[in-house]
Amino acid sequence: MNKKLIYLDYAATTPVDKKVLKAMLPYFSEKFGNPMSLHSFGEFAKEATQKSRQQIASFLHCNLEEIIFTSGATESNNLAIKGIVKKYFFGKTKNLDTRCSMNKPHIITTVFEHHCVLNSLKFLEKSGQAEVTYLPVYKEGVVRAEDVKKAIKKNTILVSVMYVNNEIGTVQPIEEISKIVKNSREGAKTLYPIFHTDATQAINYFDCNVEKLGVDMLSLSGHKIYGPKGVGALYVRKGTPIEKTQDGGDQEGQKRAGTHNVPGIVGLGEAINQVKSQKSKVKNILSLRNYLIEKVLKEIKDVTLNGSKIKRSPNNANFTFKSVEGESLILMLDQLGIACSTGSACSSGSLKPSHVLMSLGIKTEESHGSIRITLGKYTTKKEMDYAIKTLENVIKKIRTISGDILKEF
Ligand code: PMP
Repeated sequence: MNKKLIYLDYAATTPVDKKVLKAMLPYFSEKFGNPMSLHSFGEFAKEATQKSRQQIASFLHCNLEEIIFTSGATESNNLAIKGIVKKYFFGKTKNLDTRCSMNKPHIITTVFEHHCVLNSLKFLEKSGQAEVTYLPVYKEGVVRAEDVKKAIKKNTILVSVMYVNNEIGTVQPIEEISKIVKNSREGAKTLYPIFHTDATQAINYFDCNVEKLGVDMLSLSGHKIYGPKGVGALYVRKGTPIEKTQDGGDQEGQKRAGTHNVPGIVGLGEAINQVKSQKSKVKNILSLRNYLIEKVLKEIKDVTLNGSKIKRSPNNANFTFKSVEGESLILMLDQLGIACSTGSACSSGSLKPSHVLMSLGIKTEESHGSIRITLGKYTTKKEMDYAIKTLENVIKKIRTISGDILKEF
């Protein structure tokens, strides 16, 4: 990479923090042991995974045994959802709970979850293992807690609502929903519904104290918090009826088989440990993001900000520009050294309109003119100024070209 690139896609992934990398390095070839081995090599590796577990547990305010290491948030979400359904069917034979005598279990979620949640649920629906209610998020991109309350049925075993949306950054009322779920459980004297949140995009910016939030399960990922890719965790409150979904060894309290990714786990612990000390950086990110939104809405014509302006992650801006094609905008910006995205990195390359933008009621044609700009702890004012100026120029150029073409017809 020769030319100076400005990275404004921190929601897709983040660079590994230097301190995190330093902590990880010895675990590749010096302290390379398998934490399940009984000898000293194993012992060193086990100490390291336990330290990371401690760091995560301290961040989430939970017990060590309530953390399951995974390969990332995709796996955490799959395990949370499919693991609860699997245990439900096991429980049915074991009389685990009165709700297990119901027929098909019911799950509540929102229309704009990450694809790893939505596709897990689609699989359960298709294979006849669950029925699912997808709640709306309205123009603001925020689910209403009262909608969750109305949707709970006798056979509801799981509610899964993301904490912060990855495309538009809107924040969901997790505490309110957890109160509703708890009340429903207590009223019916059952273990269900279980409440899960995908907090992948929330860890850097929001309180993730699981006691305060009141969630039973919480997913997170290393590479969104300046840690490595391919590692994540699932918090599972003690007593939650969950079954492993991958068969193999006895790792992670028999809840997730497979040799531990020790360097990754060390990196995840160190990354989460750093989040606490980065509060001052969040202020800076918020003020730069507000500056971006203000300037873009003022200087560029026919543009809208997608999702709530207030209930929003401090690093996210998502705009729709009228008469502009998002993909060409991204490519032109990239040529000029600015990296941002049309939506989530996982679905770029797909020509389908973003399910998140559609869920806000945005028309298909308009959704194609949308881009997501996400800031991070290394973003500077100088970069922001350059990005705003470039965006203005590129939009002008695209609109002039498409206007000229139209005139020719
Ligand atoms: N959930 C959300 C909200 C995300 O933003 C992402 C990453 N785009 C994931 C889940 C998947 O995380 P991972 O890349 O760790 O599998």
